[in-house]
Parts: sequence; C-alpha cells; structure tokens
Amino acid sequence: MFYIDFHIDTLMRWLVDEAKSGASNVDLWENNYHVDIERLIKSNYAAQFFACFICLGEEPIYKESHYDDALKSIDVFHSQLARNPQKIVLAGSYEDYIANKDSGKLSAFLTIEEGGIIDGKIESLDELYNKGVRAITLTWNYENCIGYPNSRFKFSDKGLKPFGIEAVERMNDLGIIVDVSHLSDAGFYDVYKYSKRPFMATHSNSRAVHNHDRNLTDEMVKMLANKGGMTGLNFCGAFLQNDNMSKIDGMLAHIRHLINIGGLEVIGIGTDYDGIDGELEIKGAEDIHMLSDAMERNGFTSKEIEAVCYKNAEGFLKRFWS
Ligand SMILES: [Zn+2]
Repeated sequence: MFYIDFHIDTLMRWLVDEAKSGASNVDLWENNYHVDIERLIKSNYAAQFFACFICLGEEPIYKESHYDDALKSIDVFHSQLARNPQKIVLAGSYEDYIANKDSGKLSAFLTIEEGGIIDGKIESLDELYNKGVRAITLTWNYENCIGYPNSRFKFSDKGLKPFGIEAVERMNDLGIIVDVSHLSDAGFYDVYKYSKRPFMATHSNSRAVHNHDRNLTDEMVKMLANKGGMTGLNFCGAFLQNDNMSKIDGMLAHIRHLINIGGLEVIGIGTDYDGIDGELEIKGAEDIHMLSDAMERNGFTSKEIEAVCYKNAEGFLKRFWS
C-alpha cells in the first residue's frame, strides 16, 4: 500500500527545537519525532507534504521577520532533500509526482502553514511558488492579512479580507493549493465562492462526528467535494473524539461519515504529525499501515482503503494541476 500525507509539522518542530536547545544531532532524515524521511520510505509513502509552520504569535527564530524566517526554513528544507536525491525529491506538479513514483522515489511537497507571513505583499506568493511552495494554509489560529481563524468559533462569521480574495486568486493563477484548515467558517464559504481551482482542508475532520471548530460541517464537506476538493484525516485526539487520546476507532468513524456525506473521493490523510500532542495509537510514520489494516478488519473494501491512503490524493493533484 502507498500512502500520501497532506500535513506534518516535522520541519518546524525540528528547527524550533534546534533553535531553542542549540546544537542538535537531529534532522529530517532521522529523529525520534513522529516522522523522519527514513521511516516515510520504509513505510512506502509515495508523497509527503511538509509544512513550514510559522507562529505569528512568537518572535521569528532566525531573522527579523516571519517571512524571512520562512525563507530560511525553506532553504534548510531544500538542503535536507539534497542529501539523497535518489530517495526523495521535491515535487511541484502532478507530473513530477508521477515521475518520482515511477522511479521509486518519495515526493516531497512543500507547504506553508500561516498565510499571514506574506504580510499584505501579493508578490511574495510568486516568490514562494518559485521556491517550491505548492500549498498555503491561509491562517493558523491568528487573524492575519488574509482572514480569520475558526479557533473557538470567535470569528466564524468573518470571511476573507479583500486582500485575502486577491491572495486566493493569485494562488489559483500560480498553482498553489488553497488550504482552508484553521480558516473561519465564513472564510471557507468565501474560498468556495472565489477559488477557480479545487481546494483542500489538508488536516481537518468531520464536525458532525465530533463538534470541534477545526472540523468541517457536513455542508462544507459537500461543498468541498462539489469543487473537486478533499480533506486530510487529522490524527489529533481532540479533533477525533471527546478525549485527547488519538484512537483508530475514532478515525474510522470520521472516514465513514465523510465518505457518506461527501463521497468516496473526499477523504485522504493529513496526520498533523509533529504538530499534535497526546497519546497516539498510530504513533508515527512507521505505523501508518495500522490505519489501512484497521480499515480492512472493519469491512472497508480494498477500493475504499486505497482511495483514502493515496488514490484520492493522486486524483486531487491531477485535478488541481490539469
Ligand atoms: Zn494545523
């Protein structure tokens, strides 16, 4: 079985740890976090989306601005990939992904989690695209130049700002995936209205199964599917069920419901590894097979299991870039 994961925070977890603790013998290839490249390869991932997460609420780590910090982190990311281009290669399109898969290489996609880093400068999107960024999570948990977060439903009815609409349009033109995870509900509806391309929630679950502001309502799931989009199943316990433990049973309940509401093609994987705390039944990339194994034991068909693990993601990438 192949796997494609739309969202992990490993890059920033590593860089923040390194900055805070000084010299470090940890890197993206081998570490004791939820994910490293060696384990992704061992578990037969076909693609991993690596988020460069920037926290607007904290001072930049390296540079004067959050944007410059992101650029520096992107450089570090590229130099990590360059250590072994026989195993992992940056992908910037569906064609890149297929070429990498055909030659037995893991595709690495680069994303930004916090669109606010562009600080009202539309041309920064072009620069980010040129540096390999192919998806941007419009907001994290802060208001920014694009719009508002859904955190605690405080800004639920506040949509995209005029600059946010412009940013979505520019991302459409460039070929950067708009990611609505964390975005306010009204922001979601605006993306639906203004985005000409399919869009994603890279790491969000079902609000009907578990009522959390980070999850999608049934109406949103239908709208997402209607636009050719999809959501990535988030492994965070707090988004799955009422306790903080991340359980496979909870994941299966979300998958079942999302398929019932949005159709088979609406759901993939967006673990949020290295961005989530608490106890996990699927402890890291080395154990991702536990998800497909559990689906099989619980009556999902092989077509459904493949769809969730990688085929829906492949379909989305193809639709997005066609
Ligand atoms: Zn997130």
